[in-house]
Amino acid sequence: MAKRDYYEILEVSRDASQDEIKSAYRKLAFKFHPDRNPDDPEAENRFKEAAEAYEVLGNAEKRQTYDRFGHDGVNGNGFSGFSSSEDIFGAFSDIFGEVFGFSAAGRGGGNRPRPGADLRYNLDITFRQAAKGAEVDIRIPVEQVCGRCDGSGAAPGSRPQTCSQCGGSGTMQQSQGFFRISVTCPQCRGAGSIITEPCDECMGRGSVIRDKDLKVRIPAGVDNNSRLRLRGEGEAGMFGGPPGDLYVVLRVEPDAVFERQGQNLLIRREISFVEAALGHRLEVPTLDDPVNLEIPKGAQSGEVFRLRGLGLPHPGSSHQGDLLVEVRVKTPTNMNKRQEELLREFSEIESKKLSTKVKGFFKKTKDKVMGE
Ligand SMILES: [Zn+2]
Ligand SMILES: [Zn+2]
Repeated sequence: MAKRDYYEILEVSRDASQDEIKSAYRKLAFKFHPDRNPDDPEAENRFKEAAEAYEVLGNAEKRQTYDRFGHDGVNGNGFSGFSSSEDIFGAFSDIFGEVFGFSAAGRGGGNRPRPGADLRYNLDITFRQAAKGAEVDIRIPVEQVCGRCDGSGAAPGSRPQTCSQCGGSGTMQQSQGFFRISVTCPQCRGAGSIITEPCDECMGRGSVIRDKDLKVRIPAGVDNNSRLRLRGEGEAGMFGGPPGDLYVVLRVEPDAVFERQGQNLLIRREISFVEAALGHRLEVPTLDDPVNLEIPKGAQSGEVFRLRGLGLPHPGSSHQGDLLVEVRVKTPTNMNKRQEELLREFSEIESKKLSTKVKGFFKKTKDKVMGE
């Protein structure tokens, strides 16, 4: 991908003064700052891009090289852009200190506010709980700020010692070609300080894993893989950052009676061929009490009857799905003699009815032909 022109990135003219360049960069850095644009990769890219442009144009010497040789002039000498926002804070801590009111040490080091991670919890619920809604208690392990050391990681009464290698900034300057770039301090890993007496509760981590009891309110009508978001119930943020969210992913057990079809429920019931032929009152289960379904005369096998509003609610709405009853007509087996006789008689009447119908059809046709 072709690199954009640094002047274009900072939205300044080629003859802009150093002060103009600095203030243009501050404006952009403020606008696209990751703290102000969480989880926005586009903003993060613009933020890094602006930092890279300022790294060059903000320095009179590098700017001259860039003006004469373009990107090739500055990129061929070890400078390859910033790989993370952390590097940028380290490189321009003076600017961020002014713009955002953070101290350079806090910014450059590892102690800047970090939001906590989102967590996912898989929760198995019964079909009934999904259908009617429920409150379920869950216990989740969550990383929390250590109460004993307030997250500092240092034993109470002791203090972290300023890192001797970086002097507390968390970063070190390194020469690459004729540029100096910032790298994370290897001794303190960017924290700027070293814990000499670790807190014995968290072993110096500043955080502990604790079980947290939560009540999850499940709205009626939820389906398999429905996600519930519990705001702020994720992992704790570090150094004053906001906590993450907890996503509860529901897995609904299938039911022995009802088959789910979206918000509709389907049940299958067998009826005898006599019940199908003569009509029948069928008791069917619902999510509440059973109801009577009137099967009309002449129902066919596979026919589906709809009971409106007896399905599942749509979560967060008053609209309700339907209960569908599919009837299967059962052919009788193991009939006794008398039953067979009656069926034979039934069959004879049926074939007479058919032949009368056929004769009637021919008669009508004949009359029609004769009439012409
Ligand atoms: Zn601790
Ligand atoms: Zn250090």
